Amino acid sequence: MALIVQKYGGTSVGSVARIRAVAAQVHALVRAGNQVAVVVSAMGDSTDRLIELARELCPDPDAREMDALLATGEMVSTALLAMALGRSGCAARSWNALQLPIDTKGPPGRARIERVGCEQLKQDLAAGVVPVVAGFQGRGENGDITTIGRGGSDTTAVALAVALKADECQILTDVDGVYTTDPRMVPEARRLPVVSFEEMLELAGQGSRVLHLRSVEFAARYGMKLRVLSSFGPGPGTLICEENPNVEAPVVSGIAFNRDEAVIAVSQVPDEAGVAHALLAPVAAASIEVDMIVLAAPKGGRVDLSFTVHRDDFKRALELTRGAAARYVGAAVAGDDRVAKLAVVGSGMRSHAGVAATLFGTLGTEGINVRLVSTSEIKISVLVAEKDLERAVRALHKAYGLDQSDPH
Ligand code: ADP
Ligand code: ASP
Ligand code: MG
Repeated sequence: MALIVQKYGGTSVGSVARIRAVAAQVHALVRAGNQVAVVVSAMGDSTDRLIELARELCPDPDAREMDALLATGEMVSTALLAMALGRSGCAARSWNALQLPIDTKGPPGRARIERVGCEQLKQDLAAGVVPVVAGFQGRGENGDITTIGRGGSDTTAVALAVALKADECQILTDVDGVYTTDPRMVPEARRLPVVSFEEMLELAGQGSRVLHLRSVEFAARYGMKLRVLSSFGPGPGTLICEENPNVEAPVVSGIAFNRDEAVIAVSQVPDEAGVAHALLAPVAAASIEVDMIVLAAPKGGRVDLSFTVHRDDFKRALELTRGAAARYVGAAVAGDDRVAKLAVVGSGMRSHAGVAATLFGTLGTEGINVRLVSTSEIKISVLVAEKDLERAVRALHKAYGLDQSDPH
């Protein structure tokens, strides 16, 4: 008998028929002798719809009320799935984050899970009841309901799995595993049977939305076996686990991309100590995350600084940077929010040269201009114009031999 935490995403519970199908799947797992705890997302695109409702009322809704609103989506799914399970003859109970509780720290909309209270869950499991837990939400330090970032139900599931010492955490979604890139953009993408934690951290961090970044961080830190599976049919899925030292790692495993990027370029600032800090400090003080940063080679005592932020933070970051740059006579600030980032990721990059050469060669042949570059041991990411993104990803997918038709 295994203890399994399963998480079903929005599409997987997007209708009454889907909720029935999920209930049947969970019930089958229970009948096979397993203990199962389930985490669910809000139905379909209901989180987006709740956000639209709020924006119709006010352009900049209060963060606390926004969390109170968004947390309702997941609660709808828990109650419905618990009902569907009950009706199919499988005892089940719904739980929200205030009831358990799932304690979080940090600002609304971006809270982080600190502790999962699992007494009630353990009681349910021991009594043969399936606990159905609302993903994406937590209890803040002041007792308010919080949310933990878009796509966060994956993280709720892993946190629960770790707290319950589950044998495995399964993320059931609308694809049958982690692919070499988003199969919706590149139909030639292929499923990866195994991905190392390290690679998955980079893929998720660079925008591959199949798994929430914090869920992979949690799983890696606690060595929790994580499996991505389809909720629409059987299949082996993708196992995310420690790298097997006996198997040679692929040079490039996958390509992630993210359209939600914006770049801010400050030109002609004095080439002296403290300038980068003076420009970036106000942005950091506003809790805006800066991703890629490039300082160009100085010329005539002047230097250019470029950096990227999330597109939602673009306007505010541009204003703040303009304010900070005003003290430098002759400096100019420009911004572009029609940019996108892509990243090629692979553990084998550590011991293989030529990955960057292939990247720049391929993009050069395609006539795609690279605006910024950043690297880690197992990743190269570049910023390109948004209009070039799809062409860039397809060309690189082919160039690295990742297409289905390629030998691997
Ligand atoms: P859920 O609602 O189940 O959490 P998401 O929409 O968050 O599902 O994540 C699944 C989606 O992630 C897929 O439909 C796919 O378009 C996208 N995706 C992006 N990159 C990848 C990848 N490398 N492998 C598989 N899916 C990916
Ligand atoms: N419902 C939330 C979202 O749409 C959380 C999740 O799906 O994981 O982002
Ligand atoms: Mg998701």
